[in-house]
Amino acid sequence: MSRTLPIQARPVEEPDHAAWLSRLIEATTPEEVGALIEALAMKQPGCARAQVLWLNPYGHHHATDTPLPDGGVVELARNTLKAGEGLLSPDGKHYALTLLSQEQVVVLLGLTGDVAAKTLLGGMSPYLQLGVRQLYHAMKLADLYDSHAQLEHSENLQRALFAISDLSGSNLDMPDMLHEIHRIVSGLMYAENFFIVRYHPERDTMRFLYYADIQDQDQPDTTREIQLEDRRHTLTWYLLTQGKPLMGSDEQLIAQVNGPLILSGPDSDDWLGVPMLHNGSVHGALVVQNYSTGLVYSRDDLTLLEFVGSHILTALERKESKNELERRVRQRTEELAEVNRGLRQEVRERQRAEHLQEALFQLAQLATADIDESAFYERVHTVVGGLLDARNFFIALLSDDRSKLDFPYYIDTGVHHTISRPVGRGLSEYVIRLGEPWSGKQADIIALMRDGEVVRHGIGEPCACWLGVPLKVDESTIGVVVVQSYDQNASYGPAEKELLSFVALQIANSIYRRRSAAALHMANLRLEHRVEERTRELRAEIARREQMQQQLHHQVMHDPLTGLPNRGYLRERLDTILTAIQHEPHRRCALLYLDVDRFKVINDSLGHLAGDEFLKAIAMRLLTHVREPDMVARLSGDEFAILLEDIEVTANATAIADRVLQAVATPLRISGKELEPSVSVGIACGDSSYLDADELIRDADMALYQAKQLGRKRFAIFDEALAKDMVDVLTMESELRKALRQNEFEPFFQPIFRLDDGKIMGYEALIRWNHPQRGLLRPMDFVRIAEDSGLIEAIDWRLFEISCRMLAQRGSSETFVTFNVSALHLRHSDFDTRILKMLERTGLSPSRLVTEVTEGALLDNPESVRVMLDRLRSVGVGAALDDFGTGYSSLSYLHSLPMRMLKIDRAFVHELDKVGSKNSTTVVAAILALAHALNIQVIAEGIETQAQFDTLLSMGCEMGQGYLLGHPGPIDHWL
Ligand code: C2E
Ligand code: MG
Ligand code: MG
Repeated sequence: MSRTLPIQARPVEEPDHAAWLSRLIEATTPEEVGALIEALAMKQPGCARAQVLWLNPYGHHHATDTPLPDGGVVELARNTLKAGEGLLSPDGKHYALTLLSQEQVVVLLGLTGDVAAKTLLGGMSPYLQLGVRQLYHAMKLADLYDSHAQLEHSENLQRALFAISDLSGSNLDMPDMLHEIHRIVSGLMYAENFFIVRYHPERDTMRFLYYADIQDQDQPDTTREIQLEDRRHTLTWYLLTQGKPLMGSDEQLIAQVNGPLILSGPDSDDWLGVPMLHNGSVHGALVVQNYSTGLVYSRDDLTLLEFVGSHILTALERKESKNELERRVRQRTEELAEVNRGLRQEVRERQRAEHLQEALFQLAQLATADIDESAFYERVHTVVGGLLDARNFFIALLSDDRSKLDFPYYIDTGVHHTISRPVGRGLSEYVIRLGEPWSGKQADIIALMRDGEVVRHGIGEPCACWLGVPLKVDESTIGVVVVQSYDQNASYGPAEKELLSFVALQIANSIYRRRSAAALHMANLRLEHRVEERTRELRAEIARREQMQQQLHHQVMHDPLTGLPNRGYLRERLDTILTAIQHEPHRRCALLYLDVDRFKVINDSLGHLAGDEFLKAIAMRLLTHVREPDMVARLSGDEFAILLEDIEVTANATAIADRVLQAVATPLRISGKELEPSVSVGIACGDSSYLDADELIRDADMALYQAKQLGRKRFAIFDEALAKDMVDVLTMESELRKALRQNEFEPFFQPIFRLDDGKIMGYEALIRWNHPQRGLLRPMDFVRIAEDSGLIEAIDWRLFEISCRMLAQRGSSETFVTFNVSALHLRHSDFDTRILKMLERTGLSPSRLVTEVTEGALLDNPESVRVMLDRLRSVGVGAALDDFGTGYSSLSYLHSLPMRMLKIDRAFVHELDKVGSKNSTTVVAAILALAHALNIQVIAEGIETQAQFDTLLSMGCEMGQGYLLGHPGPIDHWL
């Protein structure tokens, strides 16, 4: 650290030692003391020149104002100091350098002149000693001053730095803070022209934060960042890019930059710029400069500015980040405030929308509400009034023929008007013509008038603004809804237009609904009228149909031939009566079921027309004996019925049956033939046990069957026993049919022996029924019913076939088989051919077959039976007369029949072993004699005892069968 001391005045002339000494005592600075020593030296004779040089402990040298000794002198002085003794110049003339000091302080006295230096020094020695001591003190004092000044300086600096760092925390805004920084820097150095540049490396931009210049008229914009490149090659650019301080005059500066230099702004005498660094990278620069002040910035200034610069950067950064923080807080607050405002706005809009929605909903509800038209308009007006200024509101509707405009609702300045006018050229008509909403202010309306679109109507004063929306139904405009205002400040915007459009839609809907409801009502009335008409027509039609139906019913219920009620009618009537009897259990009715005897014969022999005549005549005869409410019906071809609705006792019914039998029996002439009609009658009495007509008809039918069984031309009354038999018979019939289908019949064979040697000559096939429930049944259990029902033929044929097949396959070739042929078979003229075919099929020789016929079978038509038996015999099939002796047979006609065998009925055989049965022995003997005479073989049936056997054998009976000899059994038993 060095200081240039102020330059002192010239030293005293006189070598007056006393005065010199007093001046020495007063001298305080080293320079004053040095000058006095110099003056002392110059007073010595021969001294042409003297200079005092002193070195401080740091090796810095100081000298009086005379030209400084050249480097060699200073070097010499230093060596002197090192050597610890005075030295002379080599020639001994030019310099006298002497160590005048103590305590590391060196004082050198340089002399030039003719005298030897040693001499010179010697002459002034005591005063010189004093001078040196004084110099030493002065030097000490100067050091103290210096230290003091330095302390003061660093205190100033500290204060300045503190102030700078304090600034960053202050409330000052940036410009004020920069101003303050300028003031502080100015306290440290000459800084009238001062600027601060901020550099942003991330964006490579710079900005003059602060710029104070007394000369520069063209000050840069401190609010704007500029690209660093725009300042290329300026001093600032070099500062920021090189990151090193620049200092000095223009020339010096050119030497310090490593490229071309562009000098901008006014020329400065001296310029000092330092970069502001943070962690070694440049973040800005500070510059001071002066114009013609003569001042030159020192390195100290540079160092100081660098030092201050780093603090300023910190302060700036802190301030900036504080500002940034504040800015961000502000921005965030603003953003939040903005959001808040937006939300509030939204809430308001929501509320408004809700209000609107509610109003619109109300409108929509009103449109379908069941209220009268004027109430509807009034309420619509109220709702609309809640949404927009609708103090003046009206609805105009075109008449059906579109010639008139009616105003069903018109409110103007709070007053109701009732208006109706021919369609003209008002604003309402304009909107109707336009078919679109229209709104306008007075000026717009006047413009429309000028164009002739609208002609003013007399109602009220001209409005300030007007909004009308057409009412549309199915694309056609039926009217208009209008709001208008006389307030010059009012106006109707798009929102109002949209709103009123919705209102218009609802009004139009409502009108449409009302009109269609009215139309619907009319249509309903028309429809009702039409329905009534149609109903009348239908009723008439129904009546016609009913009549037709009655006719049809009559037709359906009556027999066309006789005009009598038919079976259907009878059943209906019977049902009615039986239902009535259910409620009056004491009541009885009776049904007489009539069947004309042998009607088939009449019909077949006389023809259908005669048959019809016959039936009509019978019907007439029946009718004459029946009175209302009793009824005669024709049930089928030759079946009639008489219904007696009320009888007291069964005798009433039989009495009528008798009368009818008699009435019918009167001879009748038809187609030239006299006929004797007769009927059989079945009577059933109806009581509460009968639930329907069919039951009573069925019972009467059973009784009729009974009557026929009993030999026709009579009546029979139904009773329970009859019913039981009938039921059994009917069941058996159906079981027989089933047995046929399921092959339940089987032949049992009973052997026929030659009595004298016991040889089996043949077998009799006897039918057995393997009944699934009742077990093995014998002929007596079912053959009668099979005959009555006509099933016997089919059953016999089945049995014949099986028997033949079995015998053909298993019997010896000589044994014969006999089977019992029902009388019915013999009536069929093809019986013989059928037998032959069967024999062919089964492979049994005709000579091995014998047919057994009973006497009864011969009775019916002996001639035809004889013919049949002849034909059978001619083909080799023999015949046996079964049960001989029991029937009408007489020995007399046996000779006329072609019999091969005769079977003595077991009744005679049984008699044989009774004691004293002379009678039967005689009969058997007679039969045997006759048979022998006619060459007919005899078989005795039913031989049960040895006595019978023996008797028969002794009497010459050839063959026999019976339990004694063998029970009938399955084929396996015998073969
Ligand atoms: P029928 O032709 O006179 O047959 C002889 C009957 O006497 C048989 O009875 C036989 O079992 C039975 N009989 C045999 N030996 C004795 C005996 O020692 N003592 C007694 N008390 N009876 C004896 P069945 O089989 O019950 O036949 C009864 C009748 O049924 C037969 O009398 C015959 O007229 C008829 N019949 C049997 N089979 C047939 C058939 O296939 N078709 C037809 N249409 N009638 C048949
Ligand atoms: Mg027999
Ligand atoms: Mg027999």
